[in-house]
Amino acid sequence: MKRYVVVGAGAAGLTLAYLLTKAGLPVTVVEKESEVGGLARSFHYDEWHFDIGPHRFYSANPVVGNFLTEVMGDDFLEISRTSAVHFMGHYHSWPLRLETLPKLPLGIAFRAGLDLLGKAARASEDSVSFEDYVLRRYGRTLYQTFFRDYTEKFLGIPASDTHQNWAKVGVERATIDEKVNTASLAEIFKLMLIPKPRELNFLYPRRDGVHAFWRRCAEKVVAAGGEILTGKVPQGLETGPEGLQRLVLDDRTLDCEVLAWSGPVPELARMLHRPAPNLSYRSHVVYNILLDSPPVHDYQWCYFGAKDLVFSRLSNPASFSPHTVPSGRGGLCLEIPCQEGDLLWEDPARVRRQVVEDLLRVQALRDEAQIQAMKIERVRDAYPVYHVGYPERLDQAFEDLQDFPNLHLLGRTGRFWYNNMDHSIENAFALAGELLDGMAQANERTRQVRDELLKSRPPATPTPEPAVARA
Ligand SMILES: Cc1cc2nc3c(=O)[nH]c(=O)nc-3n(C[C@H](O)[C@H](O)[C@H](O)COP(=O)(O)OP(=O)(O)OC[C@H]3O[C@@H](n4cnc5c(N)ncnc54)[C@H](O)[C@@H]3O)c2cc1C
Repeated sequence: MKRYVVVGAGAAGLTLAYLLTKAGLPVTVVEKESEVGGLARSFHYDEWHFDIGPHRFYSANPVVGNFLTEVMGDDFLEISRTSAVHFMGHYHSWPLRLETLPKLPLGIAFRAGLDLLGKAARASEDSVSFEDYVLRRYGRTLYQTFFRDYTEKFLGIPASDTHQNWAKVGVERATIDEKVNTASLAEIFKLMLIPKPRELNFLYPRRDGVHAFWRRCAEKVVAAGGEILTGKVPQGLETGPEGLQRLVLDDRTLDCEVLAWSGPVPELARMLHRPAPNLSYRSHVVYNILLDSPPVHDYQWCYFGAKDLVFSRLSNPASFSPHTVPSGRGGLCLEIPCQEGDLLWEDPARVRRQVVEDLLRVQALRDEAQIQAMKIERVRDAYPVYHVGYPERLDQAFEDLQDFPNLHLLGRTGRFWYNNMDHSIENAFALAGELLDGMAQANERTRQVRDELLKSRPPATPTPEPAVARA
């Protein structure tokens, strides 16, 4: 029997599998990792549960809201946000607030003010680089003191070679939750004068980290008749006049009615003997640190821009749910950007000493003895890297793959899209709607689900050009 084959059991793949199995269709999900969840999985060590950096659910879209409840019931906690930035040796609440002002070095505040008044940064209006975008909007002072170093450390390429879309999603990411438009330095200053921006609440699984949600979703897929094969990497794809025909695994071949791919785009192109596009993803080494007592700070996460600090962000699982750590203990998750195959990726323990020293330097630990254990994990393809030329390369890659009408690219990795879980969920809803709508021989169950999806008017499949997205 031909199956609906989904490659990747991340947020997008599992949501799609959930909707298609609910409609009674035969679905097989193929996942290369040993666990489901993709970037939204968690690492579990006895009673400690660490997500890959800070993860929580938020969406203004009722379709996503209903889906969250359908899967998880009320097994969610509602949490508000407490994030910080470590800047010039001090912690500041993030987004910046009025109380931040006295803590900023006087010279910086003064020069940033001059940038604002005089529009001091002269950057080319035509340029599409991150550097010029930030210079135009935020001025040279903030660019040089914060945005450049953070971005270069994060992406591993010069800010001048980074596309401005990274700024559109990356810089504005940090404040967007409060729905404040930070398109200019003036807006940032206005933001600093708002005593306390409107708080939004987020949902977070009560126990076992964000993973709990995606594990529950996977259980529902299986209960509805779908299959999920973990630890399986496709070995090949067979094509015919009607498109993709078969996905070959080491021990089995799957006949494909449809193939939805949420893995990296170049990998798919190679399997289909198409030119592999020059698109790269940034990977992460994650240090999950088990503490014998709560951490010094209670923020949920904090950004670290300084290039001489090894990590780019710290997050504190217990501030998402107290059940992520044993009572009286604590945890810290450190994200260290790297490239798959580089020295850090190959030997992540090489920075172990620096990790401890940097944690002490930024006073995130009381002393070294607070550390009970350190667990090191590797996370592949965590972020698409937006080089200056990526939009054209991506368009070309999508065009090269258009010969296969039953092939669909899906989610953050599959669409090379810097997005959030809710965007991947919406993307899967849109694709499920398209697939079910197109079915001439729909059975009663399929028709019902299709009608529900059509009623909910899911947003159109997003283009890789992100309008608002952040993670
Ligand atoms: C540090 C960090 C913090 C974040 N914080 C938030 C947050 O607070 N809120 C939020 O909503 N979102 C957040 N996100 C974003 C969120 O994690 C992603 O948007 C979402 O998980 C993407 O899901 P996906 O299914 O689209 O892609 P992925 O999670 O990338 O899933 C792709 C899946 O495909 C699998 N795969 C790849 N290649 C193959 C292959 N050849 N064969 C088989 N399987 C393959 C992968 O293993 C993976 O499981 C964050 C992301 C990161 C990295």
